Amino acid sequence: MTVLTHMVVGGAAGSFVEGRAAAFGLGMILHVPLDVMPHYEFQRLGLEVALVASFFGAMVVTGNAGTGVFWGALGAVIPDAENLLWRVGIIPGEWKVFPGHNRRLWRWLPHGRPLGPEHAWWQVVLGGAAAAVIARRLLLS
Ligand SMILES: [Zn+2]
Repeated sequence: MTVLTHMVVGGAAGSFVEGRAAAFGLGMILHVPLDVMPHYEFQRLGLEVALVASFFGAMVVTGNAGTGVFWGALGAVIPDAENLLWRVGIIPGEWKVFPGHNRRLWRWLPHGRPLGPEHAWWQVVLGGAAAAVIARRLLLS
């Protein structure tokens, strides 16, 4: 799953729970089903990293670093740090531990079949809906 989708879904879900740890944990748990579904992987790694960093930077600058949105989004993107390290060649694939990333766990939690960009529409719809939830929750708080 694209990190952007993980980020906004985790942030939206995190906005509905009390406490940073609960939001962080919920974001991390929701990472698993999004990775298990067949999905398109965004191929522009640098752009994706820049967008994720911009989101968290904007959350800090606007005083939203203590919100469930921030912590849910953080919990949702942290598992993909190992994918980033693997993709840039810092760690081998066998070192990945998160369910859905670790191939030894694929019997129970296989990573979703890769789809082409023409199938990314549902990820855009899901991400857009989650972003709308985030905007509403932040504006109403
Ligand atoms: Zn992942």
